[in-house]
Amino acid sequence: MKKTKRCTMCGKKFELHDKFADLCFEKQVGYGSAHDGETLKLNLCCECFDRLADVLNLICKENIFR
Ligand SMILES: [Zn+2]
Repeated sequence: MKKTKRCTMCGKKFELHDKFADLCFEKQVGYGSAHDGETLKLNLCCECFDRLADVLNLICKENIFR
């Protein structure tokens, strides 16, 4: 049985719209970062992605959305 996907931030079970939005990120961190060798893994529901994206956009010099 496939494990139910949950949001990393709020722990909510993914609903259909969360699956469609596909806001899951997996990235191996390379040399130069304190997290070198670790893998970043984020599964975000739509609500948490929007909150995180708004915060990120605030602290970024450039608009992160194109
Ligand atoms: Zn969430």
